[in-house]
Amino acid sequence: AIQLSERVKLVKPSPTLAVAAKAKELKAQGRPIVGLGTGEPDFDTPEHIKQAAIEAIKDGATKYTPVDGTPELKQAVIDKFKRDNNLDYQPNQILVSCGGKQSFYNLCQALLNDGDEVIIPAPYWVSYPDMAILAGAKPVIIETTIEQHLKITPEQLRSAITDKTKLFVINSPSNPTGVAYSKDELKALADVLVEYPDIVVATDDMYEHILWTEEPFLNILNVCPELYDRTVVLNGVSKAYAMTGWRIGYAGGPADLIGAMKKIQSQSTSNPAAPSQAAATAALAGDQSCIKPMLEAFKKRHDYLVHALNSIEGVTCLPSDGTFYAFPNMQGLIEKHGCESDLDFAELLIEKVDLALVPGSAFGAPGHLRLSYAASMETLEEAILRLRKMA
Ligand code: PLP
Repeated sequence: AIQLSERVKLVKPSPTLAVAAKAKELKAQGRPIVGLGTGEPDFDTPEHIKQAAIEAIKDGATKYTPVDGTPELKQAVIDKFKRDNNLDYQPNQILVSCGGKQSFYNLCQALLNDGDEVIIPAPYWVSYPDMAILAGAKPVIIETTIEQHLKITPEQLRSAITDKTKLFVINSPSNPTGVAYSKDELKALADVLVEYPDIVVATDDMYEHILWTEEPFLNILNVCPELYDRTVVLNGVSKAYAMTGWRIGYAGGPADLIGAMKKIQSQSTSNPAAPSQAAATAALAGDQSCIKPMLEAFKKRHDYLVHALNSIEGVTCLPSDGTFYAFPNMQGLIEKHGCESDLDFAELLIEKVDLALVPGSAFGAPGHLRLSYAASMETLEEAILRLRKMA
């Protein structure tokens, strides 16, 4: 028999897959499943971005490019960081990858040693802990409550730090909670981090543009430029421009670290697909007005969904600051149905009312479920109708 690596055995199969697989199976059997599981915009990629890729293919963008991205795309990333984030980078500080997912993977592989600790606030994006584990490191999860709006406090950060801490990850606005850290909250976390000069900071700004707070978007580096020499800014085009399938993410950071990440990428995927890079260049350098109608639609759906969720007994949902996720606590409903956990309840929802949601345990937050509102208003209304039947 084939003996798999010890490494792959360390990675947990995603609990989200069980529900997704079940939903898919039932759908194939003809059951009218409503799924709010997907983490991708329901909009099509804007036309000018698609056209740029088509033109690029016609012009011969069918070959290898430099591993870290075409000069045009890297320049568009540098200009974007300056324009949107007031951050300055040189070309050797930028790495373009096959999605934000690969950016974070490269970072873990380039930075982490066996036994290093990675501080990850929960609820977290599902891939952070497993990617840290794949690199031999240990995820140190900070738990949060709805009273603290699912955000960590500076005291919690301080007490999670040990002499093994190598990396701190922050994702704001957050998948799955939808909440964003305010300027003051970021500053308070940064004040702790400046005391520990050996900790690298990763800020995952993937949902930067899907934000409706009065405060403009800020990351931890904006409020604490002192962290510049040890902060990696991760971003990508997947969510802001409805480009999940194109697979382009990018990172800006210290040249040494970015160079090491590039080395990992050069021995795994090499460059991201050339036509996708042309599309991403058009997305970042082109007219930004395509974002607004998507943002407005997400906000409208958010307002409806959060209000509707809170009107259901046993469900409490914080309003989101952005993203396209609602992350209600459903402990009341879970207990009402005698379920052991959110995982069981997610299965029950599929069985009883044909509704597929992602259990919060997948994000390190039992008792919650994640609803994606990257879905039409009709779909959301139907989902609420079905959820009400369970109340
Ligand atoms: N970071 C966060 C917080 C995400 O939610 C996602 C996608 O779900 C990613 C990164 C990676 O996105 P992609 O690999 O599609 O660029």
